[in-house]
Amino acid sequence: MRRTCLPGAVALIAPVLLALVLPLAAEQSQWRARGTEQFRILYRPADEDQARIAQRAAIVALRRLQQALDIKLEDRIQIKLCHTQSEFNEFVGEEAPPWIMGRAFPAQNLVVVKALGPQRIGKLVAHELCHIVLQHKLDQTGAPDPRWLHEGLAKYATEDLPMEDQQILSQAVAAHKLLNFDELEKAFAGPVEKVNLAYAQSYTLVRYLTQLNPGEGVGEFLEELGQVGDVERALVRAYHQPVAQLEQQWLAQVRRVYMGRGIMDKYGAIIWTGMVGLFLVVVVVKLFRARVIRRRMQQEEQLRQLAEAGGEDQSLDSQEAEQ
Ligand SMILES: [Zn+2]
Repeated sequence: MRRTCLPGAVALIAPVLLALVLPLAAEQSQWRARGTEQFRILYRPADEDQARIAQRAAIVALRRLQQALDIKLEDRIQIKLCHTQSEFNEFVGEEAPPWIMGRAFPAQNLVVVKALGPQRIGKLVAHELCHIVLQHKLDQTGAPDPRWLHEGLAKYATEDLPMEDQQILSQAVAAHKLLNFDELEKAFAGPVEKVNLAYAQSYTLVRYLTQLNPGEGVGEFLEELGQVGDVERALVRAYHQPVAQLEQQWLAQVRRVYMGRGIMDKYGAIIWTGMVGLFLVVVVVKLFRARVIRRRMQQEEQLRQLAEAGGEDQSLDSQEAEQ
C-alpha cells in the first residue's frame, strides 16, 4: 500500500514544489541594473543590498577621482557584480585565480568585481574605478602606466591598508625584505607573497609622495609623466630630488612606521602570555604574604593574651600573698 501511495504523493507534491522553486530560480538567474548617467551596475537579485552600497561608493569615488585627477569621463562605465567565481571568470575572459577580487578594463570602461559582502564591496568598486579614471588620465598624454602607481593610488584613494597589509609590511621590515624601487614593479608578476607585498608597498609609496607635496598629491607627478614619458625623470622633476634619495627616504619611513608593529605582531602573544603569568605570580605571592602576616599577627595576639593572663595570675598570687 505504502509503495503505491508514496509515488502518488510525490506526483501530487512535485508540480507544486516545482511551481514554487522554478520562478525563484529563474528570478535568481536574472540580472538587474541600477546606476546613474556615469555608470550602470549589473547584479543578481540576491546581491541587491551590495549593489546599493556599490552605487553609493561609485558616486563618491567617481566625483573625487575626477576632481583629484582633473579629468571628466565621457562614457558610461559598466560595473558587473558577480555572484560566483564562474561568472567572474566569464566576464574577465579567463580562469582567474580565486584571490583576484576585481578587474578593471579601462579600454572598455568595464569593471568586474565579486560580490564580497556589504563590508567590502564599496571599497572594491572604488578601487577598480580608480584604475579606470587613472588610465584615462594617463591615456590623455600617452604617459606610461606603472603598476605601482595604479595599485598604490587605488589603495591610497580608498584608504585601503587593512591589518593584513600592515602585517605584511612589518614582516618584510623585520626580515629586511622590503622591495626597492626597481623590484617593486617586477614583484607584481611574482608569486602571491611578492604580489601582496608589492600592493602594500605601493600604497606606502603613493602616501609618501603625497606627503612630499600635500597640496598637489601626485597631480604634478602625473603632469610631468605625461610630458617626459619616463617615470624616474618625472619623479625628479615633480619632487626636485634624485630618485635614489626619494627611494631611501620612502623605505626609511616604511621601516620607521612598521618596525615596532612587526615585533609586537611576532612576539605579541609571547609578551602577553608572559605578562599574564607575571601578574598571576604577583597575586599568588601577595596572597601568601598576607596569609603569613595574618598568621603572625594571630600568634602575637595569642602570646599577648597569654602574657596578660600570666600577669593577672601573678597579681592575683601577690594579692593572695598579701592577705
Ligand atoms: Zn587594483
